[in-house]
Amino acid sequence: MKDTFKHQGLRQQLVNVLKNKGITNEKVLQAIGKIPRHLFMDSSFLDHAYQDKAFPIAADQTISQPYTVAFQSELLQIEPGHKVLEIGTGSGYQTAVLCLLGARVFSIERQQELFKKTSRFLPKLGYRAKKLIFGDGYKGLPEEAPFDSIIVTAGAPFVPKPLLGQLKIGGRLVIPVGDEVQIMTLFIRKGQKEFEQHEFGEFRFVPLLEDKN
Ligand code: SAH
Repeated sequence: MKDTFKHQGLRQQLVNVLKNKGITNEKVLQAIGKIPRHLFMDSSFLDHAYQDKAFPIAADQTISQPYTVAFQSELLQIEPGHKVLEIGTGSGYQTAVLCLLGARVFSIERQQELFKKTSRFLPKLGYRAKKLIFGDGYKGLPEEAPFDSIIVTAGAPFVPKPLLGQLKIGGRLVIPVGDEVQIMTLFIRKGQKEFEQHEFGEFRFVPLLEDKN
């Protein structure tokens, strides 16, 4: 598990690419500059790790594109100590970004193979989520609600009601909604039953699937 000067240099270039694409949140950029993304991928993808692209990981899933990770992270407006729920742990890369932003992270993964792999891997790198959970993210995590923010990292055919209900007042849900193509959508909870909704253009994710596997 090496992180060389070459990797660090490539990472800095990636940060510049993200800045040029419009990411401005310094803390998000710093996190991406720090996290050794190449270690979250299979070794055959080492050379690709610092391109702004999604790549396959285990169990037919993908590690999200760095721009997408940065974009979603920015929309969450995380402050240190925020309680954050992530749906779709996958490789754990987004989880690591959330940890570096100072969030107390709860992350749910429905694929057992990935859940096990990432549960072993993240602490080795020093990223300590509050809890990684093997389960179905459609249900959220009622026992830990309410959350300051919730991020969904798979394409949701519809917005799961439990997720809206598990936000604090003022809390933010960032979720890509759609089947083939998803619209990045931000919900801000304004009151018990009031939500403000903002849309941020098209993205592509692997699908949010029901039930755990
Ligand atoms: N944040 C991850 C993205 C992985 S891709 C990363 O950066 O690597 C999306 C992940 O969501 C996959 O691992 C997939 O198994 C998971 N997923 C899909 N449906 C889910 C559900 N209902 N609950 C929890 N995880 C789910």
